[in-house]
Amino acid sequence: MEFSRKIEEKWQKKWEKAKIFEADPDPSKPKYYVTVAYPYPNSPQHIGHGRTYTLADVHARYMRMRGYNVLLPMAFHYTGTPVLAMAKRLADNDKGLISDFVNVYKIPREKLKDLSDPMAMARYFHQEIKNGMKEIGYSIDWRREFTTIDPHYNRFIEWQFQKLRQGGYISRGSHPVGWCPKDGNPVGQHDTVGDVEPEIGEFTLIKFRQDSLVYPAATLRPETVFGVTNIWLNPNSTYVRANVDGEQWIISQESVEKLVHLSRKVKVTATVEGKMLIGKHVENPATNTSILILPADFVDPKNATGVVMSVPAHAPYDYVALENIKKTPNKLKDYGIPAETIDSVKPIGMIEVPGYSEIPAADAVKKMKIQEQTDPKLEDATKEVYRHEYHNGRLRRNTGKYCGTPVAEAKDRVKKDLIQDGKATTMYELLNRPVFCRCKTECIVKIFEDQWFIDYGKPEWKALAHRNLDKMEILPEELRQEFSNVIDWLHEKACARKSGMGTRLPWDKEWIIESLSDSTIYMAYYTIVKHIKANRLQPGQLTDEVFDHIFLGKGEAKKIAEKVNLDTKVLEQMRSEFTYFYPLDSRHSGRDLVPNHLTFMIFNHTAIFPEDLWPRQIATNGSVMMEGAKMSKSFGNIIPLREGLTKFGADPVRLSVMSTAELLQDADFSPTIAKSMRDRVERLYKFVSELMKASGKRRTTSQPLTAIDRWMLSRLQEHIKKATEAMDKLAVRKAIHGVMYGLDQDFQWYQRRTAQHSGKRKLAIAHVHHQVTDAQVRMLAPVAPHACEELWEMMGGEGFVSLSSWPIPDESKVDIRAEENEALIASVLEDTLNITKATGATPKKIFYYVAARWKWQTWLKALEKSMSAKIAQKDLMKELMANAEMRAKAEKVSKFTVQITDDLNRMAEERKKRLVQIKLMDEAQALKEAKNFFEKELSAEVNIYDEEDAERYDPRSRAQVAKPGRPAIFIE
Ligand SMILES: [Zn+2]
Repeated sequence: MEFSRKIEEKWQKKWEKAKIFEADPDPSKPKYYVTVAYPYPNSPQHIGHGRTYTLADVHARYMRMRGYNVLLPMAFHYTGTPVLAMAKRLADNDKGLISDFVNVYKIPREKLKDLSDPMAMARYFHQEIKNGMKEIGYSIDWRREFTTIDPHYNRFIEWQFQKLRQGGYISRGSHPVGWCPKDGNPVGQHDTVGDVEPEIGEFTLIKFRQDSLVYPAATLRPETVFGVTNIWLNPNSTYVRANVDGEQWIISQESVEKLVHLSRKVKVTATVEGKMLIGKHVENPATNTSILILPADFVDPKNATGVVMSVPAHAPYDYVALENIKKTPNKLKDYGIPAETIDSVKPIGMIEVPGYSEIPAADAVKKMKIQEQTDPKLEDATKEVYRHEYHNGRLRRNTGKYCGTPVAEAKDRVKKDLIQDGKATTMYELLNRPVFCRCKTECIVKIFEDQWFIDYGKPEWKALAHRNLDKMEILPEELRQEFSNVIDWLHEKACARKSGMGTRLPWDKEWIIESLSDSTIYMAYYTIVKHIKANRLQPGQLTDEVFDHIFLGKGEAKKIAEKVNLDTKVLEQMRSEFTYFYPLDSRHSGRDLVPNHLTFMIFNHTAIFPEDLWPRQIATNGSVMMEGAKMSKSFGNIIPLREGLTKFGADPVRLSVMSTAELLQDADFSPTIAKSMRDRVERLYKFVSELMKASGKRRTTSQPLTAIDRWMLSRLQEHIKKATEAMDKLAVRKAIHGVMYGLDQDFQWYQRRTAQHSGKRKLAIAHVHHQVTDAQVRMLAPVAPHACEELWEMMGGEGFVSLSSWPIPDESKVDIRAEENEALIASVLEDTLNITKATGATPKKIFYYVAARWKWQTWLKALEKSMSAKIAQKDLMKELMANAEMRAKAEKVSKFTVQITDDLNRMAEERKKRLVQIKLMDEAQALKEAKNFFEKELSAEVNIYDEEDAERYDPRSRAQVAKPGRPAIFIE
């Protein structure tokens, strides 16, 4: 029989029937609570989705085997725009989406019509995703499943928001938010194409004037206003003359809508082509100098106001544009600008930076050999100049009162002063534009008035979040800083909108809580939903008082229960189940959720729960590539998860996504890898079948173990230790590689070494086989649970391997001497093969000469000395010559010490420690025990002598080159 999908299904049924993943409080066992971000049911899952969930499952399974009472629940996130937008696209007959659903995901075409209703879509994909999770074998407690639009869950979220409001964490006001002008809704990362978080920045608009007309130039570097040589406008764009808050502005047509969304009063009075404005003069408000308006194609009318100030000394883009324009004076003739005029426009250096000339932009452009405005290297040049100026630059004398001010400080001061003097204002803009809403409309910034916000900007709250982060385990640790930065820069977040599915704000019912705000503490809800369902509680019974009692221990159970007509016992059970499983031990998600969901989770827990119930660990992972390429519909390389499971099997898919990358790296899936994983599973399967046939189940032995047996068992302990350390850090790839390949390599060597055994050894060898496969199966069980269950059963294991214990390294089986013995045999074999390969001769007889006793004594002495410091041959000799026996062969000893000094000085400390422990090794005995093995491997007669054995056959005097651990070899 071979390993098959049928076997996987068999075990899934058995698990379900035995309810082994249904976790209830058990005071006799330590608990471990793992959750993973619940999915939006807006499409079927593909292989890429499998990674985060599989990692969480592997983690849960591992902890279960480590003796914990593990809870891994799952729910579905109906709230927010992901489901809504997808249903809308179907309703709008989006051809691309329909083609994906029909061709990639094989959804029946006639089904699509129903799915254009958001609720129908959510229900459909909910079931689809759930089936996939079962088919891949996740150890989920399905009794706790819920959706975010269940009325009971709504009550829970209402309670959460009341808590936030009572704690002063909710504010109402006007703040800039990412915005979809078509939907009229704020947009966050989960609402945009490609899951991009809209980054809002504040531009300074410096008012360059032409009489009463204002040209508001948008800049992120207001301090460079002193170096402005000209204004850039795009000659091919349309500009408008508009009354903005009482002033006459010239701005791009595209910026009008943006300014309106930023709460400015805008009235367009005329349109004017960009080219008509070129050649005019405006006045720099900071220096009162008159400057020219010049044409530039790189000016993007969609970015801020479409009016750009030019600082060629400090902005590489401006520098290159100005140089280019000077080279083609003819183009300027059309605008009536004479060549002499343009020649007189010279960069004005106004920041002094060590290591740069007066014109830093020119230095960078020359260094990077940039010629054209379209050169992508301009971006690097800009960053480089800015970095140096920001950190080391000071303003020059031509900046007046700012002279000597560091750039980092001048930036804010100049901006503040200009605004105060009415010479500038500000404008919010997306720094990472264009960002598109899921409805394909480009997002903008809106000052959202009278909106409800969660105020992540509160300093006291940030302090709490930092405190939680400091105590928390972050896997991998390298992401800690990123979390810390996110905590620092988070500010007010719009938490509600007017449309969609979800929970209404309890105090202002026209608002619906959005999806990154209703998903921050739901891990707590999993602990009680089981009771809500089993006792058919009504949403109305779940009052704030009830939740206060369950989650915060407030009030008296009996009184509270009576008030809502609830069995006191049920309320007490909910409270005790919550306190049993909380705090959350590990939260899993992809790393893209660091800047929002995961950090929101930290914040919200610290706002609502006491410190001992704050989450303890966050584990994040990278994504999945498909044969080295990003998985994308446009590449047509998406494999739906369930299709992958049918094609390759659950264990091979799990192994593939887990074994090709450590946490943060991108895993690389390919059918070839999945097939090779399948082969490995089958090989193991075959091996165990044969082992069972040959030796039966669980054979122990009274036969004595030989050095090679002890070697294998000793190596096994090392592999167990390494795999355990790796799993503790969720370095699953490392663990799989150690257990699958490292251990296998040793095991194959063992089989090779014991292939020629006498019948008397049969049971001892079978015993070792059992020990190895037993540990290997248990260590693979978290990743390949189905195959391991089957193997476990074949091997006569008790119960489910999923509930068995993870192997513990047995120190008493660690045998360094056996390991060093075996290292000797392996290296002698390798040396011999190298010689025969080099000479090309077929050997008939092989002679090994092991080092004489005095060499061992000398070598051990040198080894001990080398433990503390590097040894010098001279000192070593001096010590040895104190011994009369050594003095008698002083010349030989001297020659030998020269040979070994370097070797020892280079040897790794770890190895030295082992050798010092073993001391003298009986090499002759070790080689003699392996004589049959050598003869079979080398197809020649093997003879073993001591180097100084008078009887030895040694026609070429090879014996004398023997060193401890390195016998001399002679071949005939
Ligand atoms: Zn939209």
